[in-house]
This record gives sequence, structure tokens and C-alpha cells, in this order.
Amino acid sequence: MFDVIIVGCGVAGVASAYEFASNGVRVCLLDVGYQSGEEKNIEENFYAYGAQNDSFGLTIGCNFEGLYNLDASHKPIPAKLCAPNMDFVIQKAGELGPVRGKNFSAVQSFAKGGLANAWGAGLYRYTENELDGFPLQLAELNPYYDKLTGLIGICGQEDDLAFSFGSAADLQRPLRLSRNAAILHRHYQRKREKFNRQGVFVGRPRLGILTEDKDGRAACDYSNLEFWQANLPYIYTPAMTLDQMIADSQVDYRPNILVTAWRREKDDIVIHGKDLAENRMVEFRCKYLVLAAGPINTAKIVLQTKRDFQSRLSLLDNPCLIFPIIFPSQTGRALETDSFGLTQLNIIWDRAIQDRIVQGSILEVTSPARAEFFASMPLAARDNLRLIKYMLPAMLALQVFFPADMCSVNALSLCSDGTLEIEADDERIDKQAISKIIRTVRQLGGWCFPRIVVHNPKGYGIHYAGTLPMRSIPSGNYECNPYGELFGEPNVFVVDGSVFPRLPAKNYSFTVMANAMRIAGYIIDKIRMN
Ligand SMILES: Cc1cc2nc3c(=O)[nH]c(=O)nc-3n(C[C@H](O)[C@H](O)[C@H](O)COP(=O)(O)OP(=O)(O)OC[C@H]3O[C@@H](n4cnc5c(N)ncnc54)[C@H](O)[C@@H]3O)c2cc1C
Repeated sequence: MFDVIIVGCGVAGVASAYEFASNGVRVCLLDVGYQSGEEKNIEENFYAYGAQNDSFGLTIGCNFEGLYNLDASHKPIPAKLCAPNMDFVIQKAGELGPVRGKNFSAVQSFAKGGLANAWGAGLYRYTENELDGFPLQLAELNPYYDKLTGLIGICGQEDDLAFSFGSAADLQRPLRLSRNAAILHRHYQRKREKFNRQGVFVGRPRLGILTEDKDGRAACDYSNLEFWQANLPYIYTPAMTLDQMIADSQVDYRPNILVTAWRREKDDIVIHGKDLAENRMVEFRCKYLVLAAGPINTAKIVLQTKRDFQSRLSLLDNPCLIFPIIFPSQTGRALETDSFGLTQLNIIWDRAIQDRIVQGSILEVTSPARAEFFASMPLAARDNLRLIKYMLPAMLALQVFFPADMCSVNALSLCSDGTLEIEADDERIDKQAISKIIRTVRQLGGWCFPRIVVHNPKGYGIHYAGTLPMRSIPSGNYECNPYGELFGEPNVFVVDGSVFPRLPAKNYSFTVMANAMRIAGYIIDKIRMN
């Protein structure tokens, strides 16, 4: 019998466990928990390694995972998840969490640490405005944002984006800009006032990436390995905190458990699951159940508990577009082999696109595989390869997130065979918004045009939310109170993105973590009162 059981060990589960542990409450964590297998890790620069070694195992893999997106017979997946070293992140996702997507591609993880093993670690505070519609105030999250900043080690600085990114206290210095990102930044600084008058702001990102050594983890070495290697010491992942808590005996971690549902016996909550290692059904008993399996799987556990095959829950995600940016003057230059391969800068359109706040990340393209660009090039195979060689050194990519409500809401339901159905319509971000973004790119010295904009499938924002929203006064089986407690289910708490009633255009994981800790704090108070 446990006081508290947490289901799932992604950002939400680990952040709540961390808050329990720091208050001396030892929790049990149930998780499927796949981990990276045979280590194919390298410890030098990606390009230096490639020049001396056969990098087939690192980039392509014995199952040709690295070329996955070149095969038109299956759905594309986000580039980073194709890397052989990242395959554990989505291991058996289709088998353990079958989803029938109509116009929606769900990305799920059953790994220890969840999807964040592959993330870009963009960690952004919400503003008071962005919490509009949430039954809580920014002041309730701020202490947890601060605590997480100390735990994780976040880089960034006080600059033109501070109005949206909030306090810069305790940040490490920003990463060194790549050559192309520096060109773009210079263009912004030269015409900064004009941009700002148009509602366009550019600045450094807030990333869970170390630029200074911290707690035994080494700072970013600009090795360009970000796409290829999990467990890089300078990229924070929740698995790091989890491993530390396990090593310090602060939590009871139970991997290989797929939770399916719960039932009540008097005051106890009895959790049902399957031990995947021993292939048998298991039960666990607790007073407080904390659901953190990611919004898709948390919704599934709730629907399975209620044996509800009728209800359609709303599922939010940020619509997302990728704008390739080309700097013609850089074409044919040598590729910059020692840059940071993920987010370099952020752009915010502050009520400048359909009166909404829209956020973009300028990404370096020196780290992903050339295969990722191959299919988008217009020539025959051999000429495409040459073109990529000359174009890549002149390119950046702009990934733009839009608020979830700029497209219609998706619907999630459970079928009687255990499959989830997620349905989206084919509504797209409209042309005017795209034109506005392309105009900004051109003003920033880059080149882009509508035909090369990549429309990601719905579901590729990977900021899933809104299935079990928090309300001031919840009603119905699928709403939570302001502390994530599920309506009609005392002591069952939801701490992942499921509880977000809306989704602004900003990477949401930092707020998921802070909110999970806030809810853990509430449960700790309840435990102490009893
Ligand atoms: C390539 C990539 C880049 C990203 N970049 C960013 C970024 O820069 N910033 C950002 O904010 N977000 C980013 N994201 C999104 C972010 O990683 C996820 O939204 C976030 O990690 C979700 O965390 P979670 O805890 O809700 O769930 P998950 O990460 O999905 O974790 C779910 C956990 O629950 C467990 N689990 C699931 N079902 C069960 C079950 N039935 N029984 C037991 N255990 C279960 C799993 O094993 C896992 O431990 C990125 C994602 C990807 C893939």
C-alpha cells in the first residue's frame, strides 16, 4: 500500500515526483519505462567522427531507421525520432498505445523520461495572459518555475523577448549563435525599432541546455550531436532527475508496468496493470493516484476505467509549420560543423498575426540527416544530393507554433477493442498568416516562399493537452478542479497537459512541470492534514 502512486515518468510525472521527494514524501512510480539499449554513443564532434569512422550505425541503423521518412509507404515521423539512438523513445508505441488517426498523427512514448528524451528542451514560462482561461494565477506557478530553473540549468538572457519569457534570474549565459543565426540576428538588430512597431520581436531562446558545467554535467561542446545521441549531458531530460531520485532511494520506481485502469475499494484506489516483463496482470493499492501518462494515455486510462466508448474528449495541439530559410550569399560555403544543432533564436509576433501571439523557433540544420531534406528537393536523385550539399550551409529552419484555437479542436475517443480514435478535420493555417511570416523572414535577410513551407501533419506540435481540463467549477466526468482532481473521483489527480484548458503558441512542457509540482504541493498538504 502506497500513499501516492504516480503513473508515467515523462516531464509531468518526474516533476511531481521531484516535488514529493523534496518534501520527504516517498512515492511509487509506475512506468513502462523503455530505455536506450546498446550504447552506440560517440564522444567527439559528429563530423570529425564521420570523417574517421563508418557512421552507418549512428545515422542509418541496422533497421534503416534513419531513412524512415524516405519511405512513402508509412507516415513520416519527426526527424529526430528517426535516429537509431532515439528509437527507444517511441519503442512499441503503436503496439501498447494503438491509435487510429483521422487526419491526426499521434506521437507517443513509453520510455523512461518519455518524449523529452528527444526534445529540444525549449522551456518557457507562460505569461498571465497565456494563463487566461486557466483557474490559477501566474503567482502560483512562479515558485515552481524558479525551483525548476535551479534544478535543470536553463540558458537564455534578458532581451526583447523578456515580455513573454519572464524572469531571467539564475539563467546560464545563452549559447553561441551559429553563422546563419548571427546574420539573421544582425538584420533584426539593425531594424529593431521598425520590427517592434510591426509587433515582431527576436531574441535568445530559453533552453534546458547547459552552457556552464552543472552538478557533474558538462556544458554544451558544440559537437552537433543533438539529433543523434540520447543522454547528452548538456541537454536536460527528466530521466536525469528520475535516475538521481532512484539512486538516492527517494522514489520506488517500478518499470515494465502498463497501467490500464483503477477501481475503488473503500478509501483505497486499486490500480490495474500488466507487467510486460512477466506477462501477467498486476494490482497496486494507494490513497492518492496521480496520472501523468501524457494526455493521450492518461485520457485512455480514464476512459478505460469508466468503460466509456461513447464520449469524445477534446484534444488540443499547437498547429505547426516549418519555413525553410535560405541565405543566398552563404550558398556553397563550407558547412559549419561546430554549431549547436537545435534552437538558435525565437521570434514572437505579438498580436501581429490575426491579432494573436504566435511563436517561432529558428533552428540550425547542421545536425539533422541530409535524408530529411532529400524528398523536398526538386531535382533527380544525384542532383538533389549535390543541391543539398550546396544549400545546407546556407539554410536555417523556422518552426512556427500557432495557438491551438487557430484551428478546430481534435476529438479523442476509446473504441471497445482498446484502440483510441483521434479525429481532426483538415482545416489549415490560412494563407495570410503564412504570407506575414514569409514577409518577416525576408525582412530578416532570408529567402523563403510559400511553396517550400512544410505543413506538418496535425499532431506534430507534440504539445498534447485539454482532454481533462481544469475548471473553477468542474462538471461532468472529464473535467478537473483547479488542483487537477478529477470530477467525481476524490484523490485521483491529473498532472500532465491533459488539464490545460487552452494552449497558447508556446512550448508548454515547462508549464506542465511547474503545474505538476503545484498539484503535488496540494496533495502533500492534504497528506499532512490527515
Ligand atoms: C522531437 C521533439 C522535440 C520536442 N521539443 C520540445 C521543446 O523544445 N519544448 C517543449 O516544451 N516540448 C517539446 N517536445 C514535447 C515534449 O517532449 C512533450 O510534450 C512532453 O515531454 C510530454 O511529457 P508528458 O510527461 O506529458 O508525457 P510523455 O513524455 O509522453 O511521457 C509519458 C510517460 O508515461 C508512461 N506511460 C504512458 N502510458 C502509460 C501506461 N498506460 N502505464 C504506465 N506508464 C505509461 C511512459 O512510459 C512515459 O514515461 C518535443 C517533443 C519531441 C518528440
